[in-house]
Amino acid sequence: LVQLKNVNKNFKSMQNIVFSLNSINLEADKGEIVTILGPSGSGKSTLLNIIGGIDRADSGSIIIEGVDLNKLNDKEITKYRRNNIGYIFQFYNLIPNLNIYENIEVSTNISENPLKIEEVLDGVGMLDKRNKFPQELSGGEQQRVSIARAIAKNPKILLCDEPTGALDYKTAKEILNLLEYVNSKYKTTIFIVTHNTAISRMSDRIIRLRSGEIVENIKNNNKISAKGVEW
Ligand code: ATP
Ligand code: MG
Repeated sequence: LVQLKNVNKNFKSMQNIVFSLNSINLEADKGEIVTILGPSGSGKSTLLNIIGGIDRADSGSIIIEGVDLNKLNDKEITKYRRNNIGYIFQFYNLIPNLNIYENIEVSTNISENPLKIEEVLDGVGMLDKRNKFPQELSGGEQQRVSIARAIAKNPKILLCDEPTGALDYKTAKEILNLLEYVNSKYKTTIFIVTHNTAISRMSDRIIRLRSGEIVENIKNNNKISAKGVEW
């Protein structure tokens, strides 16, 4: 489903290159869970943003279901993002003056093939809170809503940038269970960026970045369910 070939991206300040992702090659099949590990500044978020069509690579191919993102124009990229990509961040990023239902509606409105808002809210256990506003919810509940918002578009790919980084252990485990549920129910391909090596145990593939390069790319043959992940 996702194939990156020789992807390069430089960030420049004045004339100097301050950071670069170098010759990134990776593949993920439909329905796979991929974990991306690596120290701060190693390029994890940049890599997610390139797969998500938020950042443009300088060279290389990003092939999603046979289409090379790097060959699309801006309008086509926007359409790709709206229909295919769900994003989950460490700090939820819900819209404060919209209630939970409306936060999800924003996402279904831009997709051509959305799921039913009630269905996804029910799936993440937040249907009874649909009239509440984000600040009335706990961090874990807000993250549930942000997962609902991301999947309501019915995306093929879910990009999670430190989804449990702001949560306590118990809540983090609930969120991992939820990601696993989404993965099995909708066959969504999921990329999880995390600093937590234990989380990688629930994934099919583990990628480690260092200074913009993939230094490890292994298939996880001892995959366990999110329930069994302990740290
Ligand atoms: P963290 O774990 O801290 O989130 P990360 O692995 O996600 O780190 P990135 O956010 O991908 O790292 O950033 C990689 C490098 O690229 C950093 O040095 C960062 O400062 C730089 N960088 C990221 N975005 C830009 C940008 N838009 N312009 C210039 N430099 C950038
Ligand atoms: Mg980051």
